[in-house]
Amino acid sequence: MTDRKAQLAANLAKVEERIAAACTAAGRKREEVTLIVVTKTYPASDVRILAELGVRHVAENRDQDAAPKAAACSDLPLSWHFVGQLQTNKVRSVVSYADVVQSVDRSRLVTALSKEAVRVEREVGCLLQVALDAEESGRGERGGVGVGGVEELAGLVERAPGLRLDGLMTVAPLTGPYAGRPQDAFARLMDLSTAMRRTHPAANMVSAGMSADLEQAVTAGATHVRVGTAVLGVRPGLG
Ligand SMILES: *Cc1c(COP(=O)(O)O)cnc(C)c1O
Repeated sequence: MTDRKAQLAANLAKVEERIAAACTAAGRKREEVTLIVVTKTYPASDVRILAELGVRHVAENRDQDAAPKAAACSDLPLSWHFVGQLQTNKVRSVVSYADVVQSVDRSRLVTALSKEAVRVEREVGCLLQVALDAEESGRGERGGVGVGGVEELAGLVERAPGLRLDGLMTVAPLTGPYAGRPQDAFARLMDLSTAMRRTHPAANMVSAGMSADLEQAVTAGATHVRVGTAVLGVRPGLG
């Protein structure tokens, strides 16, 4: 085993232990939580190693980095999640490799994703990114739709050809009333998910929790955690 592979295996084992412990503490089955490894800023060679180590879901937040990486890894049995703020001029590229877009946050984006999914005859899974640091009707600093806009956007995705409404995603806010309270933020997301599933029962994915707060997300009921740093190491610079 190369040094890098041994290091990633050890990190993955630690993250696995954390998820398993959080599931046990919450009285949940381990299979209820899917690990998505956020590979942003790390090379395709790391993605390849992760796949060898059994990872099946990876996430990226910038199309410029993700597109060539996904192309280099197209032979691997991976699902690609896009989790970054998405400009409509990047939609064509993102739809060519993303199985799930977790950052759907406005109607213009829904229209663009739908048009492209239909054009290339792909079904794209969509999570609505909820901004818990925004005003009810506003948008988040780092993307996301305000709580008041969730229902309308869900209806738009549900009716959009080529798109599949899978559920909700959030990032624990750094500002506003939920700053420093990830547990409460994730509980709020779960309430929104429960409400959404009354009208959209199949949209049962809840993506929450990162390296620092995955336990709180599992406790709240998240079905997917997005972990970067704890698996791959501290990212150099921005990302
Ligand atoms: C980078 C990123 C993550 C992973 O964050 P870590 O703290 O490295 O685990 C999760 N979700 C989103 C949207 C991200 O951009």
